[in-house]
Parts: sequence; structure tokens; C-alpha cells
Amino acid sequence: MPEMRAFRESVRDLLHRPGEMRERSHEVPAPEKLGEGLAWVPEGEPLSLDVRLESVHEGILVTADVRTTVHAECGRCLTVFTTPFQVEFQELFAYTPTEADEYGVHGDHVDLEPPLRDAVVLALPFQPVCRPDCPGLDPESGELREAEAAVQPDVEIDPRWAALAGFEASSAENAPVEADEESDSGETPGSASK
Ligand SMILES: [Zn+2]
Repeated sequence: MPEMRAFRESVRDLLHRPGEMRERSHEVPAPEKLGEGLAWVPEGEPLSLDVRLESVHEGILVTADVRTTVHAECGRCLTVFTTPFQVEFQELFAYTPTEADEYGVHGDHVDLEPPLRDAVVLALPFQPVCRPDCPGLDPESGELREAEAAVQPDVEIDPRWAALAGFEASSAENAPVEADEESDSGETPGSASK
């Protein structure tokens, strides 16, 4: 499968040389659609990879930073939008893999595609929203709700805070000594309390 070669990293000059390290950057198209839910990376979407390959006694330790663009459907208003996405992963590719889920060094290369796919899919947002304050759809009309109607409850002042604000204002008025000193410098008591 030629397209998978894009995710192969040669480790020929790192094999059995603990302490050696290589860093490489690539841009690779997503081999297929990644993600099954409301958020996904489409096939062909560029993946920017910063890869660090470290030779250790057991094999090659790979640390990769992946950046791409995620396409998502807003869970509230159903709009499809795109958003920047970044994920890191680290995997040991062993010379002699011992466990079923451990990756191995194949000849003179490692294949980053399986761990990259797992890292991206696991990090995709599970319940994406187009913006934090998306008001969503009106359950009756199916139309996008007015943003003001949904935002209003959030700006309502808690009665306890309203009482505190009144207390602060009155305590500033009841400080005549300081207020007199401040007035010499041309400031009013109201502006001095802020
Ligand atoms: Zn939305």
C-alpha cells in the first residue's frame, strides 16, 4: 500500500545506538477519514508531524506532535465547522515486542500510522460545539435560537453580589477623613475608591 509509506520513519542510523536522536518534520495527507462521531479528520487533510526518534536499549522511542484541522458538526445547532487540532503521542517501538499491544521495529523503519491514528481518534472532541455560547436550535421551530435569549440568564446579577456592591458603595461614602485628604489632590471620593 504505497500511501502508508508516508508514515514510515527510517531508523537505519539509530538501530542499536542508544543515545542517538533524530528530529524530522513532515506534512502527510490523512490516509483515510479518521473518526466516526461528530468530529473527524477527512481523508487527504494535511497532517503536520514533528517527530522525535530516540534510540534506547529496547528499541526506538517515538514522540510525535500532530497538527491538523478537524471538521465537526456542532452538537447544538448542527452546523459543520472546522477547528485547529493538535495531539501528541509517545510510543516505544521495541526490537522484540513482548506484549500484544506493543509496536515493533520492522527492519530499518517504524510505522507511525497505527499509533497516530489511535492518538488522533481518541483526542477528537466527543461533543463538539461551534462556539462556547452556541444557543442551539429551538426545539419547536427547529430554527437557530436568538443568541440574546439564551445569553440573558448568564448576565443576571446574583442577588448576593448585588447586595455586596451596595455595601462597598456605602462604605466608601462613610470614610470622610480619607475622602477629605483625597479631595485636596482634586479626586472625588467615588473615583478614589476604584
Ligand atoms: Zn452551534
